[in-house]
Formats: sequence, structure tokens, C-alpha cells
Amino acid sequence: MNPLIVANWKCNPESLKEAKVLLGKIIKGADGFGGAEIVICPPSIFISSLVEKGPVKFGVQNCFWEDKGAFTGEISVKMIEDIGCEYVIVGHSERRKMGETNEKINLKIKKILESKITPILCIGETLEEREEGMAFEVLEEQVKRCLDKISKEKAKRVVLAYEPIWAIGTGNFADAKKIEEVRIFLEKILVGKYDKKTAESIKIIYGGSVDSSNISAYLVGAEMDGVLVGGSSLKADEFLKSIKSAKAE
Ligand code: PEP
Repeated sequence: MNPLIVANWKCNPESLKEAKVLLGKIIKGADGFGGAEIVICPPSIFISSLVEKGPVKFGVQNCFWEDKGAFTGEISVKMIEDIGCEYVIVGHSERRKMGETNEKINLKIKKILESKITPILCIGETLEEREEGMAFEVLEEQVKRCLDKISKEKAKRVVLAYEPIWAIGTGNFADAKKIEEVRIFLEKILVGKYDKKTAESIKIIYGGSVDSSNISAYLVGAEMDGVLVGGSSLKADEFLKSIKSAKAE
């Protein structure tokens, strides 16, 4: 299967001009993309100036569960769809830290799945939880609560991003064996919650300090369906190198 490679630019770069330059360099390197599906998730305020038809798809880093109204600062799924985005990241650990709960994430995913947009549901344990042997319990709870009351037909469209918090933005390369163990565990949870066919349709990707030096360990070694790339997606050359390394495997 061709890998899904999602770039999470987070709150970067500082200006629209820089964002255009970064995107331009990535698109210019598009010849090397092979079959990989590339999704760029810039800050929402830049999105409508960046979205264009071409070799990359676009996503945003958050959304709201209501369509419109008195919700200052929020962005609805309809708005995201209207400007041509195809993906939304939900439940990123950096947002969970700011108060995003499994219940709110569940509302967002339900709303997203009413549209044609694909939700990328982030889950992951802290270092403390892993060291206490709680990682699998935490992940199971996150999956079950975030996907609560979501039918199997709809769940098939979800992308599950396993992002251990101890590996995000830290340069800590998680051992691919550990990541493979989690992938197998998540597949088991999904088979139990839905069924084998549904579980097979749900892509499971990995995020946490991914770059060109380790991408193939996760895609090939841990057999993940793709990766979510934060920091290293802000350097066009490095990001293109990662995509090429993914393709080479
Ligand atoms: C992320 O933002 O989801 C992420 C994985 O970041 P980084 O690649 O910088 O660890």
C-alpha cells in the first residue's frame, strides 16, 4: 500500500510568505513522490491562500463540531470542506494538553464523518504511563472513547495516528519493535470493537520525531500505513528526502 505522509506544520512558519515558499519547494520536488499520498496541514489562517490542485492534499490541525453560530475562534467542518481541505487532525497531544478531552474529540470525529473529510485521530501515552506499564490501557481507552457510537461504515474512513507523547518533538526515536507491538495491539482493539474487515480499512500511522533517517523503520519495520511528521516537515529538503526514503522501500 502506498504510504500516507502527513505534514503537521503546527504553529509555523511565522508568515504567509514563508508558508508559500515552503509549500512551493515541496511541490517542486513532487516528481519524487511516487505513490505516496502527501497531506500538508498548515496553520488554518494560511490555508485558503495555499490550497491548490496539485500533487499534495491539504488538511487542518483542528476543527469544531458545530456548523456555525456564536462560537468565537472556532472553525467548522463545513468551512474546512468549503476551502478544499480533505483531512483534519484531531486529538493531537498538544491540544489535549490544552483541555481537549476524548469526549470533545468524539464530537469532532462524528461531525467530520458527516462530511467527505478524513479525520486523523491522534492517540498516545506519556512516558510516565509507558513506564508504569499503562500504555496499552491508555491507548484502548482513547480509541474506544474517541470512536464511541461511530458505525463501522464510518469508522473505515478514520486514520488512527499513534503518537507517543515522549517521542513528539523530542528527537527520541522510538524503537520500531515497540511501535509494531502497538500497531498489532491497536488492530486487535479495532477488530474487537468492529470486525476484521473494518479494522483492515482503518489506516494506522505513526508520529514522533520522524525524519529521513528513521521513516523506513516505521513504514517497513513496524509496517505502519504512513507517518505524521512535525518538526522535520518544516524543512523542505529534509521532508522531500523522507518522502523519497519512504518510496525507496
Ligand atoms: C507531530 O506534530 O504530530 C509530531 C509528530 O511532531 P514531531 O515530528 O516534531 O515529533
